[in-house]
Amino acid sequence: MPSKFQSGDTVMGRWPGSSLYYEVKVLSHDDDGQLYTVIYKDGTELELKESDIKSYTSFRQQSGRSRSRSRSPGRRRSRSRSPARTSRQSSSRTSSRTSEGKKDKLKEVLEVRLTPVVPPTENNSNNKYEKEDTNEPNVETEQRRSGRYNLRRRKDGDPKQAEEVKKVDEGSTTLPSASLKTEELEFGGRIGTFGMLLFLPSVVLLLLLQVSLKDTSLLTLPASFPSAEVLWDWQVFGLVILWLFFQALLYMLPLGKVVDGMPLKTGKKLNYRVNGLYALLITGVSVGIAVQQEVDLTYIHTHFLQFYSSALMMSVLLSIYLYTRSRHLSEEERASSGNSGYLFHDFFMGRELNPRIRSFDVKFFCEMRPGLIGWLVINFAMLLAEMKVQKLDFPSPAMLLVNIFQFLWVADGLWHEEKILTTMDIVHDGFGFMLAFGDLVWVPFTFTCQAHYLVNHPSELSQLFIAVIITIKGIGYYIFRKANSQKNNFRRNPSDPSHSHLKTISTATGKSLIVSGLWGFVRHPNYLGDLLMGLAWSLPCGFTHALPYFYLVYLLLLLIHRNSRDEVQCRKKYGSAWDEYCKAVPYRIFPWIY
Ligand code: NDP
Repeated sequence: MPSKFQSGDTVMGRWPGSSLYYEVKVLSHDDDGQLYTVIYKDGTELELKESDIKSYTSFRQQSGRSRSRSRSPGRRRSRSRSPARTSRQSSSRTSSRTSEGKKDKLKEVLEVRLTPVVPPTENNSNNKYEKEDTNEPNVETEQRRSGRYNLRRRKDGDPKQAEEVKKVDEGSTTLPSASLKTEELEFGGRIGTFGMLLFLPSVVLLLLLQVSLKDTSLLTLPASFPSAEVLWDWQVFGLVILWLFFQALLYMLPLGKVVDGMPLKTGKKLNYRVNGLYALLITGVSVGIAVQQEVDLTYIHTHFLQFYSSALMMSVLLSIYLYTRSRHLSEEERASSGNSGYLFHDFFMGRELNPRIRSFDVKFFCEMRPGLIGWLVINFAMLLAEMKVQKLDFPSPAMLLVNIFQFLWVADGLWHEEKILTTMDIVHDGFGFMLAFGDLVWVPFTFTCQAHYLVNHPSELSQLFIAVIITIKGIGYYIFRKANSQKNNFRRNPSDPSHSHLKTISTATGKSLIVSGLWGFVRHPNYLGDLLMGLAWSLPCGFTHALPYFYLVYLLLLLIHRNSRDEVQCRKKYGSAWDEYCKAVPYRIFPWIY
């Protein structure tokens, strides 16, 4: 069907969910979906249906008619800017410009208002920059309700990008309905995610083989690929299944409080039982009893490759189950990142946001329990193995530091378990191979790298060096915990008086962004803290080999990549308010560097 409007036309576009019209430019037209990609004056892009677009001429006629009606006292004043702009800009402009300037601005765009718009969901009363403009349409809510609009910031060469997205669509086989489809593929798209499926397990295997060598130099590769017997043992597989069941049982215990998650697309909130600390405590006591009963935990060290293969097998089986069960999902159940219609991509990214078996939340469980607590058990087993291999009566200071630091990190995570409910993993990412493998394999088998290394590679530490390491860990922990707690508490209760000292920037979604304190220092202070802690975990292994720094390098790459993913999401969510935040806080993770 020929399109009514052409690329480059300047027309009036309706703002999703409301009856406000703004001047927009047509960028492209999608013949299949009958959608026009349009751009607002501030750079916000939307996809609109033809019925939501009016030509200038027809709009003027209608505008003339409705202006006569808009004199009723209940009607609002006209606004002269695209609705994606923040109200902060609005107020600062209002204060800094003359009334003549305002009139000029008002002339820029014509507007008709036929029905009231939905007010924002969250109002941050602590905003120091300005008061919320309650006339601002709640973009996120409207976007979600309509389910077909795609709000995104302008990027350079956008028509080309639109073309690329279209090309990707053409090759798709089992597409979800157009409105729910993931258009921007992450992790290198189809090829990248397929590569990750092979690359990630290989990296872990190589790391484990390398750490067991006497000379762990990166240039010394393992002599041969391990045989099937070295890699697989049914008894170990049984133990891994037992471990998962044991942790699932602890997860289901009616201990601890039940908290709400963040609102889903429909505004509904899921409940989560927060009892991770009890799980850790009970596991700790069980392990203690087992050791007292002379259960040889160093078995984990001597069969480590088999434990790895078994955990890998479980993560693959779990991912297959997750992919299969997510064939028919409602909009609110879908993860925005894992529904491209491409098998490997969606298998990797995860189609379902919060897979649950009754009230058992599979993602929350895997994120917080078997891998994290398993990591500590493995570390402890490595400590016992070190004493056995090096014939020590007491673990080395390096091994103790690694064990204590990592124990504190996990215990802290479980103590603040509910704070994970506002993180990207829970709020944004689907549960697929990426997270299943990450939780069940990557965490317990690569994060234990330092303890594993120390079993066969003793490291002498001076008292001064120990003090330096503890200081780095302390600073890192302070930044990490404060930043995460502050953001989490602010998201949950923005009007809490404890946040009254924070400066914030309002966004069109009704949420605000903290722009002072740690979140005004760099845009991801929690990542900075995490990296400092990661450094403190690696330093006890000394400087002879690079391998114990694997975790630090991985964390650096992960967090830089994660930061870029998050920035894309935030720019989509918050439009120009995010740009404003970036201007106010120019560095992402490392002050004055990056
Ligand atoms: P964050 O917890 O930082 O979450 C990012 C979200 O926070 C954004 O999408 C945005 O969401 C909100 N936000 C961003 N800036 C602001 C601001 N200025 N004010 C208020 N809200 C803001 O990221 P992650 O989920 O990636 O990480 C959580 C923690 O987990 C970090 O400490 C990280 O280091 C750690 N981590 C550790 C890993 C490891 O392997 N060791 C792996 C991954 C993470 P919205 O506005 O929608 O709320």
